Amino acid sequence: MKHLFLTFLFLLAVVVSTNAQEDYKDKDLKKYFENTEFYSVVDLPQNAKFKKKPKNIILLIGDGMGVAQVFSAITANKGTINMSQMPHVGFSQTQSADNYITDSGAGGTALATGQRTYNGAIGVDVNKKTIPTILEISEKNGLATGLVSTSAITHATPASFISHVPDRNLYEDIAADFLKVEIDVFIGGGKDFFTQRKDGRNLVDELKQKNYQVYNSVEESKGVESGLLAILTSEKHNEVYPNRGNMLPEATQKAIQVLQNNKKGFFLMVEGSMIDWGGHANNTEYIVQESLDFDRAVGKALEFAASNKETLVIVTADHETGGMAIEGGSMTEGKVNANYTTGGHTAIMVPVFAYGAGADNFAGIYNNTEVFAKMKSLFGF
Ligand code: MG
Ligand code: ZN
Repeated sequence: MKHLFLTFLFLLAVVVSTNAQEDYKDKDLKKYFENTEFYSVVDLPQNAKFKKKPKNIILLIGDGMGVAQVFSAITANKGTINMSQMPHVGFSQTQSADNYITDSGAGGTALATGQRTYNGAIGVDVNKKTIPTILEISEKNGLATGLVSTSAITHATPASFISHVPDRNLYEDIAADFLKVEIDVFIGGGKDFFTQRKDGRNLVDELKQKNYQVYNSVEESKGVESGLLAILTSEKHNEVYPNRGNMLPEATQKAIQVLQNNKKGFFLMVEGSMIDWGGHANNTEYIVQESLDFDRAVGKALEFAASNKETLVIVTADHETGGMAIEGGSMTEGKVNANYTTGGHTAIMVPVFAYGAGADNFAGIYNNTEVFAKMKSLFGF
């Protein structure tokens, strides 16, 4: 009897873990958060002289990060974060081709390709035709390219920059697309989609055959300073902050360190994937912790851009999640009290912050597709 019960528990655990991919959509209302982990923002030189056009672009996407999410982070860190230091600010309208409220597939695809598509699409247009992404265009023009995310690297946002599939849930097809582009660096979760596949392929072995240095953590890759690099930091998604540690800022720094070797320049996309999941959960602590972690990654990008002078840093979101409203807080104590209107996404425009070479092109209100158009034209492609 005891044996039967243990078997049942085991099967239950298997069912729960195989569904873990979409767990983040469960609601768990927590309005109040008091921060205890404060950090100083990076020291940016005043009157830095940047080139007019960037050699390198670092695009950081806070999934589900609207103005309220940014302000909750500002409040929690007692009045300032790295994003607050970015002088050029605009707003991006996020509507998709078939919906007033976008999902992360269509939202990511718009930022990556400059075209609006249907919700759920990855790198394809409304007719399911492949459209080139800024990462692929950069690669074709001789630049180095990279993707970093806290979610599985095959999840909608990073996938939009490298994959072309009609449905965002085709994770194994998305993983296979990583071998079709010579992306230089990618760091995130999702190892199972590379190794535990229905088609029996082992994509980690295939990556190694293509001369990728493959690791399980940023720490493990310490000695790597150049070449092709793939770091798959977990089987599925990484853990929520603080359990995953400083993976995102460290991965951002690692990617920059390797990509900057390319004399022609680089394109890097970094995603704070789980701000969105905190929004779906209506959980203020989750949102603030993920936003602050994302902001520390922004700090790594700003630090590099400040000294490099030929780098553009853009920080934006694909959409807002939760209809978050800040109802109370304390700037001196880092306390935030928020409420929510939905467990889904909302239609409101999201901020675009820019710093460095060409940053003054990002003021104003425009469609999300313009972020792609501006990056492409600043690169001169
Ligand atoms: Mg995402
Ligand atoms: Zn979402």
